[in-house]
Amino acid sequence: MYFRRAAINAAISMYRSYVGKLKARQEGPIKSGKPSPPKRLHMSMLYYKGMYKDFDEKSILLKLYTGKTWAWVKHRYTGRPFPENAELMSPTIVIKKKKVMLHIPVKEIVEDSRTAKERVQQNEKFVAVALTGSDSLAVCTTIEADGRATAPYFIKGGKELAHRRKLLLGYIKRGIAGNDSPRLMTQPVGNAVLSVPQEHRPNKKYYDKITRITDHYAHAVSRKIVDYALKQGAKLIVLPELKESFNQAKKSYLGKTPYDFIGRRIVRYVQYKAWQQGLVAMTSKPYYASTRCYHCDAPIAKHNTEYQNPSPNFYGGKNFICKEGHRGSTALNSARNLGKGFYERFYAGAA
Ligand SMILES: [Zn+2]
Repeated sequence: MYFRRAAINAAISMYRSYVGKLKARQEGPIKSGKPSPPKRLHMSMLYYKGMYKDFDEKSILLKLYTGKTWAWVKHRYTGRPFPENAELMSPTIVIKKKKVMLHIPVKEIVEDSRTAKERVQQNEKFVAVALTGSDSLAVCTTIEADGRATAPYFIKGGKELAHRRKLLLGYIKRGIAGNDSPRLMTQPVGNAVLSVPQEHRPNKKYYDKITRITDHYAHAVSRKIVDYALKQGAKLIVLPELKESFNQAKKSYLGKTPYDFIGRRIVRYVQYKAWQQGLVAMTSKPYYASTRCYHCDAPIAKHNTEYQNPSPNFYGGKNFICKEGHRGSTALNSARNLGKGFYERFYAGAA
């Protein structure tokens, strides 16, 4: 009965999510086809109360079916400690290959629980963020209640991260080259290895380290974004919607695989950290944010140094210039445009 309830609820939420996406497409500013259906209809096992007990910091008793009968089985587990004063919700058993994980949602009391929509209607200022693959991993600006973009803030660390990753990739290459076994010569090297599932890669410990370092930077940058919003007195953070541009991340102009791109992780951590602070973080589609001038809407050309010819197709270019002579940081321009687009769509109608 419990599992049937869990399965029905999962099916309902899947259906609602699909219908929600479909509606958003049909009513959105750009009409597009149907969203793709969920790729996996398989759901992990949700354990409602009554299916588990004696749930403490080290172990849990789960009701399991042996094939003949139901039995209470004690399982030890390890993991991060739970936040203080958090209420633990029903756990889910997630099985990934040989790993069995217990996912436990926690409920924390947040002081300011108004939704993004309520905040927008009250015309509070908000923070807009651009994410890049260059040294400034994130660029923030504050959009005031009257629509002005103020207080630019650059969060660096991209160069340092790239350097540390490069060192580790160097170890990986040397590790493979130093081995005499001819079979290993056919193994992918460098960035090509990143397309091989992680557990099958040679030099797994270095890849794990790359993942940890990337994660560390994602945490540090997201913390700085949330601190900036708090300092500015903003209650809402708007981040670029990255889902649709997943294929862009694969394009060679970024010189990066999706694995390299830290942005998705930053977005996820900002949402979590913001929520812990009573802030709302949401994503917004960055229409033309990186191709138009914030000041005059003219197409922009990009370049890195004075000696380069600015080009509209130079995607990594850190500086921009438009035909009206406006110039500055491409990433800051993107953040301002994201903020402007969000302001026009939501504030203008809500005021
Ligand atoms: Zn301009």
